[in-house]
Amino acid sequence: MLDVSQLRFRYPDASHSINARRGFDFSFRLGRGECLGVTGPSGCGKSTLLSLLAGFLTPESGRVQWQGEDLLQRPPWERPMTSVFQEHNLFDHLTVHDNLALGLHPGMKLSKSSRKKIPHILHEVGLEGMEKRYPTELSGGQRQRVAVARALLRRTPLLLLDEPFTGLDTETRKGLQDLLLDQKASGATMLLVSHDPGDVRILADRTLELTA
Ligand code: ADP
Ligand code: MG
Repeated sequence: MLDVSQLRFRYPDASHSINARRGFDFSFRLGRGECLGVTGPSGCGKSTLLSLLAGFLTPESGRVQWQGEDLLQRPPWERPMTSVFQEHNLFDHLTVHDNLALGLHPGMKLSKSSRKKIPHILHEVGLEGMEKRYPTELSGGQRQRVAVARALLRRTPLLLLDEPFTGLDTETRKGLQDLLLDQKASGATMLLVSHDPGDVRILADRTLELTA
């Protein structure tokens, strides 16, 4: 169970901007294998929530527990989660293969069995045979699929997905949704930020509606 309670945050320079939100306060609970859809207008704090959970931002107060353990004490790389951001997920100087290999091992030292996972996951996300391409040689939607593939390879219990379907055609979108439904069925817990009520309806068990 992911237990987020009164997680409060304020950007340090928020007082200088007229349009900036005054502060954020998040509370929700999410069981294993559940998906929480996070919705709301642009600027309401959806990406901020994911950054707080991942540990890229530090809250003023509140609680984030996973299976009873306090995650706020852990640095981002020791938290049991993987994030897929809206952009800038991939290293442009590395091939698709090496971007995926990084998800499996920080030094890209792969055993024979983990090496086999790369062509397999590329097939799953509809990018078969693209191992040698560089991110700059892919469309935005293809890059997004590589990012999702890398997140899935890591097999962390929690997945934080920020608009993962943006820029995808209907068929690819459906393919990725099926893949995420499979992950859920095998126990993955997810937060799905999405503008699209259709995506939320398909994947989310519950919705956290944030207001501007
Ligand atoms: P969303 O993902 O829902 O569109 P964000 O979480 O990115 O919204 O942003 C929420 C609010 O915080 C917005 O008002 C945005 O302008 C502000 N904000 C985001 N990042 C920063 C930052 N680094 N410094 C100051 N304000 C920020
Ligand atoms: Mg956002």
